[in-house]
Amino acid sequence: MLKKKASSARVEGAPTLSLRGVTRTYKTGQGELTVLKGVDLDIMPGEVVGLIGPSGSGKSSLLHAAGLLERPTSGQVLIDGEDVGALDERARTRIRLGRIGFVYQFHHLLPEFDARDNVALPMRIAGVKEAAARARATEMLSALGLADRVLHQPAQLSGGEQQRVAIARSLANNPRLLLADEPTGNLDPSTSHTVFESLRRLAKEEGVAALIATHNMELAGHMDRVFALKDGHLEEREAQSQGW
Ligand code: ADP
Ligand code: MG
Repeated sequence: MLKKKASSARVEGAPTLSLRGVTRTYKTGQGELTVLKGVDLDIMPGEVVGLIGPSGSGKSSLLHAAGLLERPTSGQVLIDGEDVGALDERARTRIRLGRIGFVYQFHHLLPEFDARDNVALPMRIAGVKEAAARARATEMLSALGLADRVLHQPAQLSGGEQQRVAIARSLANNPRLLLADEPTGNLDPSTSHTVFESLRRLAKEEGVAALIATHNMELAGHMDRVFALKDGHLEEREAQSQGW
């Protein structure tokens, strides 16, 4: 059988992420619940896109489909122009590890590792040698203003610092796509601002396409584009800057 490498189907100049008619239906005790009813979206490299909508509107469902954590009920997910729905789980895992970074509301840092080794971990899993992984981790943490915190364990860091470590970790492997699920949901307003600005700047510098779910309308105003999830569909909203 001809073995095809997952990377061979990439399309030059394609959006980093494309969703085409994505639907998601859950089976529940009270029957079926369709939370995504045909979502279309394209995000180009370096674009930072906000995703808003009340709790329960399907933001996480959309991010899970885009991040290959779950398969949509129907529709297509394309990463770099490649239809990843057709791939088996091994190929999807490889894409997820190599090309997608995730940030969650809670940082999920390993408590017994210092900041540098938390950031180095995904690189170590990808086969990078310890010294090189630590050097890049230190560089990323410094870029996020944490140069003097690299040897601190998560418990020795503030909430905002912990979340910046999680952002450094999500970008450590040079992903093409960054998916963030309410990354500042657990932070006070001024810390949210700092953390979001760090995320946006790094995404821009690294040419990453970012999709960021948030409740915070102030942050939404600082995205390149904003979409609201309403009744299972995306509606584009004007990204109104509140001018910090
Ligand atoms: P959001 O992130 O915007 O809060 P979610 O995508 O988490 O929304 O959830 C959307 C809706 O789908 C919610 O009503 C939620 O209860 C439901 N839901 C999410 N995951 C499941 C699941 N695995 N099984 C059943 N219902 C689910
Ligand atoms: Mg959610």
